Amino acid sequence: MKNYETVIGLEVHVELATKTKIFCSCSTEFGGAPNTHTCPVCTGMPGSLPVLNKQVVEYAMAVGLATNCTITQHCKFDRKNYFYPDNPQNYQISQLYEPICRNGYVEIKTEDGTEKKVRIHEIHMEEDAGKLIHDDFNDASLVDLNRSGVPLIEIVSEPDMRSAEEVIAYLEKLRLIIQYLGASDCKLNEGSMRADVNLSVREEGAEEFGTRTEMKNLNSFKSIARAIENERNRQIDLLESGEEVLQETRRWDDTKEYSYPMRSKEDAQDYRYFPDPDLTPIDISDEWMEEVKAKEPEFRDEKMARYISEFDLPEYDADIITLYKPLADLFEETVALGNKPKEVSNWIMGETMRLCKEESVDPDQVSVSAENLSKLIKMIEDSTINRGAAKEVFEAMFKEDVDPEMYVEEHNMKQDNDEEGLKEIIKKVIEENPKAADDVRNGKEKAIGALVGQTMKATQGKANPGLVNKLIKELL
Ligand code: ADP
Ligand code: ZN
Ligand code: MG
Repeated sequence: MKNYETVIGLEVHVELATKTKIFCSCSTEFGGAPNTHTCPVCTGMPGSLPVLNKQVVEYAMAVGLATNCTITQHCKFDRKNYFYPDNPQNYQISQLYEPICRNGYVEIKTEDGTEKKVRIHEIHMEEDAGKLIHDDFNDASLVDLNRSGVPLIEIVSEPDMRSAEEVIAYLEKLRLIIQYLGASDCKLNEGSMRADVNLSVREEGAEEFGTRTEMKNLNSFKSIARAIENERNRQIDLLESGEEVLQETRRWDDTKEYSYPMRSKEDAQDYRYFPDPDLTPIDISDEWMEEVKAKEPEFRDEKMARYISEFDLPEYDADIITLYKPLADLFEETVALGNKPKEVSNWIMGETMRLCKEESVDPDQVSVSAENLSKLIKMIEDSTINRGAAKEVFEAMFKEDVDPEMYVEEHNMKQDNDEEGLKEIIKKVIEENPKAADDVRNGKEKAIGALVGQTMKATQGKANPGLVNKLIKELL
């Protein structure tokens, strides 16, 4: 078999975090009763007129500036015409001729550790469609237009990626930039970030690209990686057996790990694009651009550097904490309440990440508040609870952000610092474990662990382990 290279370009849709829709004042909030966030504009009633939401332009501009794009200072909206029941106007307002951003790039780290530029062809603004709900039982399809008119940007890359790892690094980078800007929460699993993967293969060393397919319906990094592997092999098999790859749109079924054709790919001309006559062109002044640029937040790389220099965090910690904006916020807010940075970092990197994995919670969704984390850490420091108990309290905080003081009170978890009481318990433990006690007397330091363990058990984990250690040594 010949050697093949995979060539990948992405079209990434991102739902913007505006309060209202792109061309009307309906709410963008997710999850309302069907068709309650609607009006004549977003249900496509004849005679209704769109009015552009300024915040959409600002978010699109901010993403473009942060990804090194050139802003199109005279940009326009076009109609993309097609019929589909989730699209009540029979056209989607999008941008074809003058997208708001062009010619950008982001830098990613490749597997061998080197930096690589992935070029961005353009970013354009458009409206989202509604949602169809297929009711197999009643053999009917229902439409919910709450999502119709929710603002999107579409980020179109050049075909610069060569592996699933590069694709994921690119998406991570976009997610971080956009989340830090506050322009979107970028959740693949909830659809606020959606990636379509265009993929072709070519013989290693070939100049020309091969024919590509486009894959839709990829809603996690894992499914993207699986789909890329699968599609690459499918195309190579076709070429090796002398067949052709058809240019088409395919749908990935992640449970079956298999993609199937949806439709042959349309060309732009199939959509009969034309400038939207209901919307005036947008003129973006230099001042407006500068204003948006001036509002840029501290991005991840700068934040990481600051955590290392200002808070003396190891690079390893700074790397993990800044990977998710909400965790970075939690870290900074907790430190601002007077806690030691490294201690806060340990709780975030350790228990928080462990529980995220265990409970399958996206680190973006962690709802522990800085107030409660701060209180918990202080309760360990002033010996109100021991670390073992603190972990238990933290699990409750992770699930419901409970107040640790109340939780400890309610569950009677206060640390036992009563020396006299503990001495009595320890005497009994020593009696019951003569071998371990002798070992300690004979200088085997490690044997003390067994005695501490027994004492902790006898106090239902409430004893202060440091104190227990000290008392055992005294009594022996
Ligand atoms: P269209 O206008 O048909 O949608 P575009 O030129 O806009 O096509 O490209 C869409 C996406 O496909 C872009 O992200 C681009 O990088 C990617 N792409 C284009 N050609 C190839 C190819 N041969 N292999 C892989 N990806 C490609
Ligand atoms: Zn509306
Ligand atoms: Mg395209």
